[in-house]
Amino acid sequence: MAGFTKETPQDLANSAQRQTPASAWRIRMKLFCTQCSKKFEREVPPECEGLPVFKVCQTCINANAAERQAETVKRLAASGVARWLEYCPPAFQDTDLAKLPFRKVSEQVLAWEYQKRGLLLYGKTRSGKTRTAWLLIKKQFEAGRTARVMDSMSGFEYAAIFGAGGAAALEWVQARCRCSLLFLDDVFKVKLTESFEAAMFAIVDHRLNYNLPVIATLNDTGSTLSARMTGDRGEAFIARLREMSDTIHFKCGQPKI
Ligand SMILES: [Zn+2]
Repeated sequence: MAGFTKETPQDLANSAQRQTPASAWRIRMKLFCTQCSKKFEREVPPECEGLPVFKVCQTCINANAAERQAETVKRLAASGVARWLEYCPPAFQDTDLAKLPFRKVSEQVLAWEYQKRGLLLYGKTRSGKTRTAWLLIKKQFEAGRTARVMDSMSGFEYAAIFGAGGAAALEWVQARCRCSLLFLDDVFKVKLTESFEAAMFAIVDHRLNYNLPVIATLNDTGSTLSARMTGDRGEAFIARLREMSDTIHFKCGQPKI
C-alpha cells in the first residue's frame, strides 16, 4: 500500500518561492473619494484593473459604519423606551433624578452596568428606591434587554395562573427565570402564599445559577421579612439575594448591611 510522500526541504523552499507576497501582485490606484472628494489610494489585484472601483476612502467608510451603528443604537433605545413605557407604572414614568431625596445614592444605582451581580436596594417608603430602580430598568430597556417585574400584585397573579393549570404556572415561572433582568419591587409587602414563595425561590435560585441579575427593593429588614414568610425561608431568601447582589441603602451616611 502506497504511503503519503513527505515533502523534502527542497519542496518546501520551492513552495515558499511560489508564494509571492500579495502586495507584489497588486496595483496602487490613485482615486478621488466620491463622498469627501479627497484623493486617496487603493490597492487592487491586477485582474480588477479596468473594472469599476469602489471610490470611497477608508475614512468615509469608517465614518459611514459609525453613523449606521449610532442609528442602530438610537433605534434600539427608542424602541426600548416604548417598551419601558408599556411596562412602567405611570406614577414612575416622569421621575426627575434631581428631585429624588438621596440623589447621590440614586446615581450610584444608575451607574450599575449589566452583570451577574444585581442590586438590593434598602430604604423606607418615599426614599426614591423604586423610582430609581425604574430609571435603571429604563436604561436596560434602552440597551435592548428584557426585564420582568414582580411586585406585591404578583402573588395574586401567580395564584390565578396557578389555578389555570400547571403548564401556565410553569410558563410564568420560566419567563421570570430567563429574562435578562428581574425586578422584585417590594414583593414581600404582603403575606405570601406557600406556593408563591416556592415559585420565588425557584426563580431566584435559577437566576443565581445562570448568572442572571436581580434588582430588588426591600422595605423590610431580614427579620421582619422572615415573619411574613414560612419557617426560616425569609432569612434564607435574603441571604440568597445578598449573595448575588450588592446592597445599597437609601439614606445618608455610611451604608450598613
Ligand atoms: Zn472620503
